[in-house]
Amino acid sequence: MAERLLIGALKGGKNTKIVTLNGKKMTKMPSTLAKLPGLKTLDLYNNLIPKACPEISALTQFQNLKLREFYCEDNPLFLKRPFVAEQREVIWSLKEITSRFVMNELAKNNPILMDAIEQYPEVRNIISEGKNCAICGKFFLTIWLECVHFVPPSKNWKISKNLQLVPLRVLLCSYKCFNQRDPEIFGISQE
Ligand SMILES: [Zn+2]
Repeated sequence: MAERLLIGALKGGKNTKIVTLNGKKMTKMPSTLAKLPGLKTLDLYNNLIPKACPEISALTQFQNLKLREFYCEDNPLFLKRPFVAEQREVIWSLKEITSRFVMNELAKNNPILMDAIEQYPEVRNIISEGKNCAICGKFFLTIWLECVHFVPPSKNWKISKNLQLVPLRVLLCSYKCFNQRDPEIFGISQE
């Protein structure tokens, strides 16, 4: 049943704006969502989906929000079952150390680096991938801690009233920042 609906949605391609798959006993998010760039409303209410698929993360990234409505209550997605994880520091590569230094100096408008960077398009390319730490605001390149921040939903979102907190993805630069985090921020670990 869910498959038939998805095939129909896929036939619509970029013209498909709404996908409704509520109560279909689905155990994962359909990865075919990535082929629906025009999707505005996704309803996965009351399924058995335990986690978000990478395709849905692409659709719901807040910098680049395409979905206007997303219903996913009554899935085991939002169960908070935290446990204390071992903090294993990753050794940074020379590239990570250098990129962090360059990005953070550029953010301070260091005049020497700002001049030098003009001569090195490859370096500009590398650091264009840099991301900000949600705690200290500093930059990092490829090594980070992936976390979720549970926040009350914005009043502008069309979501059901019984949903009190929604998880937003946040990235942190180090365990130093992780240990200073808000209590509503949880690290994500591989099972
Ligand atoms: Zn940080």
